[in-house]
Amino acid sequence: MARYTDSVCKLCRRERQKLFLKGQKCFTEKCPIETRNYPPGEHGLSRRAKVSEYGIQLREKQKIKRIYGLLETQFRNYFKKAISQKGITGENLVKVLESRLDNVVYRLGFAGSRKQARQLIRHRHIAVNDRLVDIPSFILSPGDVIKIKEKSKKLDLIHNSLKRVKDTTYPWLSVDKPALTGTFVQIPERSEVPLNANEQLVVELYSK
Ligand code: SF4
Repeated sequence: MARYTDSVCKLCRRERQKLFLKGQKCFTEKCPIETRNYPPGEHGLSRRAKVSEYGIQLREKQKIKRIYGLLETQFRNYFKKAISQKGITGENLVKVLESRLDNVVYRLGFAGSRKQARQLIRHRHIAVNDRLVDIPSFILSPGDVIKIKEKSKKLDLIHNSLKRVKDTTYPWLSVDKPALTGTFVQIPERSEVPLNANEQLVVELYSK
């Protein structure tokens, strides 16, 4: 499968905001956004071109895609799914992205980034409802229980990440840190999701 292999910090610099793609480093002074908050490349600092409406919509789409670590085709497919559902398309899009297993493993605090969460899942450390799931894009349903497999409970990656998130909680998830389990209680409302992006601009972009 195609993968993005360049420095992910460049993606944040391109969007001029933290997308939290690197785990612990994102919360330290080593984060390049703290010192070089301008687009990468030779003309990054001097670029002042007026951005068109299309450009603004495109940047917003790229931002959301990058936050969730998706490629264009995957993202398009989620958008198609969002259109086919009842309700507001932009909100549906965020809800389905939040229901991905890699996102939930990250939000539960078992991984420092969605990328790390994908690694945990692919390396078969995660079970859903007591069945091993090694597909990061697996879509969870309300009531699903996510567990770290018994043999994986000592992994440093998981414990370091849990230390970092401390008491961060989300209303649609419940977590039992000592037992290393969590529940996807319900699909979140858009207003509950801490996503600093305007998904409506994505709807406008794809509706052209
Ligand atoms: Fe983005 Fe994290 Fe890199 Fe900072 S350290 S630029 S937030 S990925």
